[in-house]
Amino acid sequence: QSMKTMVSPTFPEEGPLRSSETFGKFTPTVINGERRGNEQGHLFAQRIPIPGMKPPIFCNQSEDQLKSMDPLILELVNNEIVDCGPPVQWTDIAGHVSVKAVIEEELVWPILRPGAYTGANRPPKSILLFGPTGTGKTLLSRCIATQLGSTLLKLSSTVLLSKWKSESEKILQTVLFMASCHQPVVVFISEIELLLSVRVHEENTHLNNLKSQLLSFLDNIATSSNDDIIFIGTSQRPDDLDEAAHHRFAKKFYISPPDNLARRQILHHTLAQQNYCLSEREMALLVQHTEGYSGSELIQLCQQAGANHLHGIAGQMQPTSYKDFEGAFCKLQASTSQKQLNMYVKWNKLYGSRH
Ligand code: ADP
Repeated sequence: QSMKTMVSPTFPEEGPLRSSETFGKFTPTVINGERRGNEQGHLFAQRIPIPGMKPPIFCNQSEDQLKSMDPLILELVNNEIVDCGPPVQWTDIAGHVSVKAVIEEELVWPILRPGAYTGANRPPKSILLFGPTGTGKTLLSRCIATQLGSTLLKLSSTVLLSKWKSESEKILQTVLFMASCHQPVVVFISEIELLLSVRVHEENTHLNNLKSQLLSFLDNIATSSNDDIIFIGTSQRPDDLDEAAHHRFAKKFYISPPDNLARRQILHHTLAQQNYCLSEREMALLVQHTEGYSGSELIQLCQQAGANHLHGIAGQMQPTSYKDFEGAFCKLQASTSQKQLNMYVKWNKLYGSRH
């Protein structure tokens, strides 16, 4: 029997996400699925005010300081770093239930409803998301930005250190300046270990400058209670991070490959977009055989199975079957080794905020 009718388009929460109900209806800063610049061609995505929310902060000195900045760098940041991806809701992310709950309650809620927040601790402003590639770190960061109705400044350390190397200090400086000017804002930097590595040598002035720029930014957002700046760093190599640097992150979450339930949800959701026929037993086998696969690898696996199928029976439109997956398994295995997974678990035990 086909399972298609059982498929839900989003991932309903398996656990309690307590605060979402108290938020009431929330409209993210997205119009027709896009974040937009404002009519004056301003650098930032426009933010629609939400009743009861803190108004956005614009810094007074921004006009003058903006004028003093390199227009080409500003344009680059505007075009390549201000993220215009689609909005992401909590229910779009399978699994990571406790991480989502902590982030929603301790970070998102205090920013959206500062008056209602009674938590004793200062809300975390810097987060490290670590784990294998394709497990939802970027997705989660996009979701945080969507929930906050904030601008997302999304930068890859690899791109910064390769394609943009000669201008990297200026680019980072511009991104961090923009962040302080337009709040709430989420600054997202992937492969953060490249910038905050233990291996940044004294004599490498260039990397050292980037590192100190970032560290002083992290120190500033940790101590300033008025700013609504969230910094998210992601890493596949948390063990490469300088200890002094990773202590700067208020929260460190292991974003693991999906568990059984999350894999089932991702597979269901992906297969719902293609014609398929799997029995309950075959779906259970699929869930069992995909242990260790990341979310993005599961999606690729379904696509591969669909492609196998199309190539297999030319002209005949049959639904993707379990047999197509057997072929796909040969082509696409989980890329993260058990050794790497053990490293994440160990690092999480030592430094993580949730074990
Ligand atoms: P990372 O930043 O950890 O490398 P991404 O967040 O970019 O991974 O994930 C890549 C894609 O894989 C996402 O856009 C999404 O389609 C899918 N994906 C990964 N993890 C999940 C998840 N937990 N729930 C739903 N989709 C996921």
